[in-house]
Amino acid sequence: MSTELDVVLIGAGIMSSTVGIFLKELEPSFSVAMFETLEDCALESSEAWNNAGTGHAANCEMNYTPEQLDGTVDISRALEVNVEFDLSRQFWTYLMKKGAIADPRSFIHPVPHMSFVHDEGNVAFLKKRYAAMSAHHCYEGMEYSEDHGQIAGWVPLVMEGRAADEPVAATRIISGTDVDYGALTHHLVHHLVGQPGCSVHYKTRVTNLVRADNKRWRVEVQDLDSGERHSVTAKFVFIGAGGGALPLLQKSGIPEGHGYAGFPVSGIWLRCDDPAVNKRHHAKVYGKAAVGSPPMSVPHLDTRVIGGQNSLLFGPYAGFSSKFLKHGSLLDLVESIRPANIEPLLAVARDHFDLTEYLIEQVLQSESHRLATLDEYYPKADAKDWRLQVAGQRVQIIKPDVKRGGLLEFGTELVGAADSSLVALLGASPGASTAVFIAVGVLRKCFAGELTEQAWLPKLKEMIPSYGISLIEDPAFTRKIRSETARALKIEDVTSKPMHA
Ligand SMILES: Cc1cc2nc3c(=O)[nH]c(=O)nc-3n(C[C@H](O)[C@H](O)[C@H](O)COP(=O)(O)OP(=O)(O)OC[C@H]3O[C@@H](n4cnc5c(N)ncnc54)[C@H](O)[C@@H]3O)c2cc1C
Repeated sequence: MSTELDVVLIGAGIMSSTVGIFLKELEPSFSVAMFETLEDCALESSEAWNNAGTGHAANCEMNYTPEQLDGTVDISRALEVNVEFDLSRQFWTYLMKKGAIADPRSFIHPVPHMSFVHDEGNVAFLKKRYAAMSAHHCYEGMEYSEDHGQIAGWVPLVMEGRAADEPVAATRIISGTDVDYGALTHHLVHHLVGQPGCSVHYKTRVTNLVRADNKRWRVEVQDLDSGERHSVTAKFVFIGAGGGALPLLQKSGIPEGHGYAGFPVSGIWLRCDDPAVNKRHHAKVYGKAAVGSPPMSVPHLDTRVIGGQNSLLFGPYAGFSSKFLKHGSLLDLVESIRPANIEPLLAVARDHFDLTEYLIEQVLQSESHRLATLDEYYPKADAKDWRLQVAGQRVQIIKPDVKRGGLLEFGTELVGAADSSLVALLGASPGASTAVFIAVGVLRKCFAGELTEQAWLPKLKEMIPSYGISLIEDPAFTRKIRSETARALKIEDVTSKPMHA
């Protein structure tokens, strides 16, 4: 590997590998090096069991469709997330056509996405939500039912053991997916480093980022086997280090990162590998989050397909650990505190007492409490079929705010240097599903000058045919894209069915 590179990618997860492929496809002459602390790619949040594997298209996550004060349901955020997933579908289809991924079933499976609620107030909400969503072409094919028999046909385990007069409602969209982001990351890294000028370096930690004289970054790394330290330089650095991104952003010293802090939330699943149970459930069933709980704690009962094996996952149960990465250090949180981020941290602690209470309650939960939550979605669940599975860490963004002192954000944010030479991805949601949307964000933020017809645009449109077209506004193009990508990825195609009258 040359020590003078065009691009350095920090971290070998879904984000760095996606950004790396975009840059290499758009500029084949780029030299690219990826550095990863662990011994392989996708061992942190991108690993299959560290996340829920939902191909987030905001089909079933009710936190994206808040009820307004006037009683109407706002679906605007859901629509944004919905079409962000279309970008991922197009990119993966492009990689299939290129031969970079041989079989879509190695990472993506059709699994219906459902929202499920009980009690009258929630049923009324879901009905209104369905009316608003199904009227939009992006949610073509969405079904709604309050009928016990019909819902039992969709998800028998959810309905068995319920009183016949319990008010329930569900929506279903059969074009939903379960994605093994770990397997996908392996495909992406393999494809990237198989190209000339590209390399991946495992067991190599990036220890510092320093501006060099010639508009480059000096990236200091340590070989974790030998302990040896060396450095490379790069014109562009992508900090795709997941929970490790904030400390590296701080080390870069760019003023744009001033005042940012992170708040780690860990997760635990219940997991069932018994085929006798699993074959009776084929859906991702999302419920409503408890009042005061953070949006990523919405309970869901999911079909997972990992390594060719079907399992069920239920959760997440939130927890608290001061680590920023599952393989990180308990000192991560303390070491991230700087004079500049103390005020935002204190402001968030003051304004989000309900979150603190929620986390304490979750951490203190006993096994019987956890099973009681599972019972709400699977009344006849048997404790002996389930075991605990520790999920990945999410580091929520805390950022400075003039009015409140600090804000807690549950989304993702690209924080970059003014000269576009470095950008860090902070935050975790909607997550891996929107890796392509994030990669496009990196291009717009840091390579805007290249996005012209004379330079990268034609290739970018080949990779993402809908680039520059709003799928929210264009029903015909949405149908075309969804039909093509469904065929390539072997997932359900609701557009092949006749359009609603
Ligand atoms: C409980 C949970 C459930 C989730 N569910 C979903 C879901 O259903 N759908 C979805 O789309 N998303 C989901 N997500 C989010 C998704 O997992 C993440 O957004 C995504 O995996 C992040 O990818 P990444 O590449 O940024 O990070 P990671 O996969 O964590 O990769 C970052 C890598 O950087 C490495 N690294 C860190 N610091 C350094 C350093 N100094 N030097 C070198 N390497 C370093 C780490 O070792 C790691 O391998 C979930 C996340 C969690 C935690």
